[in-house]
Amino acid sequence: MPSIYIETYGCQMNVADTELLLGHLGQHGYRRAGSPADADVILLNTCAIREHAEDRVFGRLGELARHKVRHPAVQLGIAGCMAQHVRERLLEKIPFVDFVVGPDEYRHLPEVLGSAIGDPLVAVQLDRTETYADIVPQRERGVRAWVTVMRGCDKFCTFCIVPYVRGRERSLPADAVLEQVRMLAADSYREVVYLGQTVNAYRSGTVDFAALLRQTQAIDGIERIRFTSPHPIDMTESLIAVMASCSKVCPQLHLPLQSGSDRMLAKMERGHTVAEYRSLVDRLRRAIPGIALTTDIIVGFPGEEEADFAATCALVREIGYDSAFMFKYSARSGTKAAKWPETVAEEEKGRRLQAIIAVQEAQSAAINRALIGSTTAVLIEGPARRRDGWHAGKSPQFKTVVFPANGTRIGDLVQARITGATAHTLIAEVEESKSSRFEQFKS
Ligand code: SF4
Repeated sequence: MPSIYIETYGCQMNVADTELLLGHLGQHGYRRAGSPADADVILLNTCAIREHAEDRVFGRLGELARHKVRHPAVQLGIAGCMAQHVRERLLEKIPFVDFVVGPDEYRHLPEVLGSAIGDPLVAVQLDRTETYADIVPQRERGVRAWVTVMRGCDKFCTFCIVPYVRGRERSLPADAVLEQVRMLAADSYREVVYLGQTVNAYRSGTVDFAALLRQTQAIDGIERIRFTSPHPIDMTESLIAVMASCSKVCPQLHLPLQSGSDRMLAKMERGHTVAEYRSLVDRLRRAIPGIALTTDIIVGFPGEEEADFAATCALVREIGYDSAFMFKYSARSGTKAAKWPETVAEEEKGRRLQAIIAVQEAQSAAINRALIGSTTAVLIEGPARRRDGWHAGKSPQFKTVVFPANGTRIGDLVQARITGATAHTLIAEVEESKSSRFEQFKS
């Protein structure tokens, strides 16, 4: 049986795509290898969202070149967004790569592997209909399964490469999604996370994202439902109502902001203003008390002045996010913004990034400290990374909670009392009387 080793870069969509690739190749007789040394095929599933992500892949390819010289029969390939974005540069800089496959060509990978001898094979056609709805991913065991429900994006924010490398928006049929979730429940997964570049733009016939969540709520065995990443302009009133009324939909939302300045939001073509975003947050908090909000922020976008950045800091303070992913703007060739002159020096971008990180870290720590003394439900995921004999899991708000294991098991849903907090972790002890709802879970 030939073996394949896949290394994944970038976002959760890419992790889910790796599971899809493993499922598809598994059907074609490939087994998963644990390291490049054990593999007949080495595949890097790449990310193009920032230059740094691409640099990492180029660096890794340099290392794998040495392996390829020693083992010339090994096939080395690139998949994912970078395969789509910089295929010419890849083949020019790394001539020993055997194949390059874009995100809509994974179905053809077995044939590509069968024929990749001689010149590198390039398969990067985008496809407006490909959803891979019929392919069963080979998932990591655990309590949580990531389920891709839509692919691509139609929004074309001016800074973003995604619509160019992942193509246009398309949704999996609702029946296929719900059937996957039923299979996951039967397979002892307890939580599903619906994934899509703009997940709440999901639509299959008459089923929109709110209806999909409502139908998922009815599936026995699944206890928690999450989704990422929604776009603010697709947060409909019916979706908010479903989040408020469906007990399994967790009170947590990653709601990308990008900038707190109307001027920048307009240049980014995000499709909403600060006032509209603020109103959305108000409606969410009224409908779902205790909802945790997280976000994405870009600093140093072309034209961002000190006043725009100050507005972002002020809005981040006002909203009080539980946490945030914060980045320096990185121009991506092919996007609208890449044609505009960069007006913020690299050093200044760095200063703004550090300043907003400091604002957010203080806020995350204060929000978490305020939870000390309260109790929360925790779905146990595995051993804590830094403490022997401790377990770690997530609260409904997707906060990491660690506590002494004391006989609890992976898959248990326990009530835990928060005894301490950092900006990123809650420290707790389990109230034993309420543990072990998921006796049947086998890790
Ligand atoms: S909504 Fe904007 S930022 Fe998000 S994937 Fe689409 S283009 Fe990119």
